[in-house]
Amino acid sequence: MSARILVVDDVLANVKLLEAKLSAEYFEVLTALNGPDALKIVKEEDPDLVLLDVMMPGMDGFEVCRTIKGNPETEHIPVVMVTALDQPSDRVAGIEAGADDFLTKPVNDIALMARVKSLVRLKTMTDEMRMREATGRTLGILAGGSKEADAAPGRILLVEERAVTAKRVADTLGSTHEVFVEQTQEGALDAARQGEFDLIIVSLSIQGFDGMRLCSHLRTLESTRNVPLLALIEDGDMPKLARALELGVNDYLMRPIDRNELFARVKTQLKRKRYADRLRENFHLSLEMAITCPLTGLYNRRYMTGHLETLLEKSKVSKRNLSFLIIDIDFFKQVNDTYGHDVGDEVLKEFASRLAHNTRGVDLACRYGGEEFVVVMPDSNLDGAIPVAERLRLEVEAKPFAIRNGTDKIDITVSIGVAESRGEEDAVDALLRRADQALYRAKQEGRNRVVTAAAA
Ligand code: GH3
Ligand code: MG
Ligand code: MG
Repeated sequence: MSARILVVDDVLANVKLLEAKLSAEYFEVLTALNGPDALKIVKEEDPDLVLLDVMMPGMDGFEVCRTIKGNPETEHIPVVMVTALDQPSDRVAGIEAGADDFLTKPVNDIALMARVKSLVRLKTMTDEMRMREATGRTLGILAGGSKEADAAPGRILLVEERAVTAKRVADTLGSTHEVFVEQTQEGALDAARQGEFDLIIVSLSIQGFDGMRLCSHLRTLESTRNVPLLALIEDGDMPKLARALELGVNDYLMRPIDRNELFARVKTQLKRKRYADRLRENFHLSLEMAITCPLTGLYNRRYMTGHLETLLEKSKVSKRNLSFLIIDIDFFKQVNDTYGHDVGDEVLKEFASRLAHNTRGVDLACRYGGEEFVVVMPDSNLDGAIPVAERLRLEVEAKPFAIRNGTDKIDITVSIGVAESRGEEDAVDALLRRADQALYRAKQEGRNRVVTAAAA
């Protein structure tokens, strides 16, 4: 993981110390010794994370944080406040200023890396999201993400046997989120399997079972693989913390649990989970838009021709022919002319649905353009394809199409051309041409019929 981190502290020795630690982990480090310099660097260098000292003469850390978070250009940059251990009130003020997390001086190495890595991961997601949404908006296919969604309540599973801690965590988070508490390993796994959680908090100091094992189990379960894990650790148990982070635990809290830290870490993890979910959804959505026709939900022409190429090559290797149907609605222009374009669209949709219902899962049904459709049938020769075409033709002819919410009905027929692949020498465009010629004959011979391409 590589990222650019801005370290801000008025004491040069502190800056140098953090710089050395971060550079050793191959982070790129920028430094500033006061608030105004820090803001200038934030604006000009767009760092991935800011480590911000609270107490600085002139402009203090809270003000720097407020300025970063108050500017739409920089608000997405995570800020970690570096606070003094004996000033818990600093954390409240930090949260109010918009800080994403806290570190306590003197800064512990493992804690530093955990904070930095967790927030840099979030930033990577945020950047990707911002980029894709900008592209999506330009293409007109994606709506922008909403800030409200980021702040929405989450479903949190808390695995903790200590009733007092469980109650405190549940009370703290319960005002914003839904919290479910489990005390045993079996209970936790059962809940995790069904629960659709956004976050799982696991105590690593439970007597009855090994919390580490539970975490590693949760990382492998299908239902929880992508759910962030937050570990509760005994104060100072650094070796366990290091192992937990290696195991895939995303972040941690030391006991006794600080409410503000709890809030901040939960917020970061939930945000990252939501971005990840949204990226996945957007990916599927844009994929779908790229290969299907929005009116009928069938594959589009571009996808079909690309895929047909692959299928034809496969059929040459397997020496099993594929068949190809091209279907054209008869006198479709008249439907539009008589009933209007919207009714024409209804007919196309209904036809697409009958087409999808009358082909096998392995068949590739697609809208070829206008009122023309094709079906590619792998591992099928004419003996298999002609009855399918005939059934489909009948399926259209026999049942009038309901239009205008079922208030009207119209008779529709289709003409179908059928062709079969011809071994080694065949090519996609030749196959398409043969099917098209068969369709042309079907039209010539009176429509509402299936015609097979002439033998070679
Ligand atoms: P034929 O029996 O010879 O196929 O006659 P036809 O009227 O079906 O054929 P033609 O190619 O003359 O007309 C096709 C019509 O399909 C013309 C076009 O406006 C209409 N069309 C193409 N795409 C759409 C669409 O997405 N929605 C609607 N409603 N009509 C469409
Ligand atoms: Mg037509
Ligand atoms: Mg046509």
